[in-house]
Amino acid sequence: MQAFEATSFYFDQAAKLLDLTENIRTLLVTPEREVRVEVVIELDSGAIGNFIGYRVQHDSARGPYKGGLRYHPLVDQDEARSLASLMTWKTALVDLPYGGAKGGINCDPTKLSRGELERLSRRFIEKIHDMIGPFKDIPAPDMGTDAQVMAWIMNEYGKFEGFNPACVTGKPVEFHGSEGREAATGYGVAIIAREILGRLKRSIAGSTFAIQGYGNVGRHTARFLGRQGAKIVAISDAYGAVMNPSGLDIAELDRHVAVNRKIVGFKGGDPATNDQLLMSPVDVLIPAALGGIFDKELAQAVQAKLIIEAANSPTWPEADLVFNARGIPVVPDILANAGGVIVSYFEWVQNLQHFRWPLEQIQREEEKRLVDAFGEMYDLAERKQISMRTAAFYHAIIRVSRAHALGGM
Ligand code: NAD
Repeated sequence: MQAFEATSFYFDQAAKLLDLTENIRTLLVTPEREVRVEVVIELDSGAIGNFIGYRVQHDSARGPYKGGLRYHPLVDQDEARSLASLMTWKTALVDLPYGGAKGGINCDPTKLSRGELERLSRRFIEKIHDMIGPFKDIPAPDMGTDAQVMAWIMNEYGKFEGFNPACVTGKPVEFHGSEGREAATGYGVAIIAREILGRLKRSIAGSTFAIQGYGNVGRHTARFLGRQGAKIVAISDAYGAVMNPSGLDIAELDRHVAVNRKIVGFKGGDPATNDQLLMSPVDVLIPAALGGIFDKELAQAVQAKLIIEAANSPTWPEADLVFNARGIPVVPDILANAGGVIVSYFEWVQNLQHFRWPLEQIQREEEKRLVDAFGEMYDLAERKQISMRTAAFYHAIIRVSRAHALGGM
């Protein structure tokens, strides 16, 4: 099974409950536009670097397409299509006036110099500038991209289309970005953790956590959970994991990673593998790295009591069925990591208003949207005795199909 098929499987589980006609199902599943471009740059060595970039625009019934740009060696058309579709359901679930899109470049950003990354980003935008824009399609950061990449994108877009900072979100705060955007996804994951643990008559304080991935999302998730008294006993990145049953000192780990660029070698815990982390007996397991982590076998071996999907698409459908059968609740990606796109929306609104909001307002409004969407999803799941994922898709599909019906086909 490929990534897009997996997303469509989750869609179908909810669609079945809605009695959609086959034509409407096809309309909602099929991406509206897919673009693949060759991106050629001169490498620092003087050699030519050939890369392939993608942008998939999935659905625009509720507003301009919105979705991140990923720089990673596994980026391909199918992954972009799957992630674009997830964005459609995510923006609808948290009720943002957007559709869904996703894109990226197949490359290993850890092996490119800053100059090469800048040339790659600019050349990609040169190829796709006419299909993005504040009221067309608004990119944002994802794996392997950050605020600096978004700044280059804004600047390059401006060369073709004129100055317009609302053409991209996740920019540096001092360069038309928003307070709170960088930490927004992790902040949101911590809010969702508080909400779900509350419903399960537990709390963040006193619960044990394992987090896979220590990039933008994993790092900020750990920080906000730590502030609320979480005991984070395992954290990993692409190079390995570190575990400490008494709880890791997150501030110390940050200092180590700032110097060494990786978790490996951190003295405040024992070295471990990613698999050990994923199978550790914690209260809450948070995948915050790649997609496609949980397959059927791993799902049988997981010992966590609750999973919160901070990463996009970490769970294959056959693993999801195992988690459901084992009674392990899974908070789906389209809600758990929606904090990022919520604050991207606030950044876009501020850019359009030429006005800045304070951090307190941004965090307050992010929290409200997430808590409301969580409540709607959780209550529906309880009422209909379905998984939280199916309940989340159910709400999202109703909103998107309603927009298609109201706008007219
Ligand atoms: P990032 O590039 O900042 O960090 C990725 C982290 O994952 C790094 O620590 C990397 O070392 C680690 N990693 C990579 N491969 C791994 C492996 N095989 N095992 C363990 N760790 C591995 O990316 P990010 O922005 O933090 O995104 C992480 C996930 O969250 C992705 O699935 C992304 O789609 C999703 N997401 C991100 C945002 C956002 O605002 N950045 C928003 C929503 C969802």
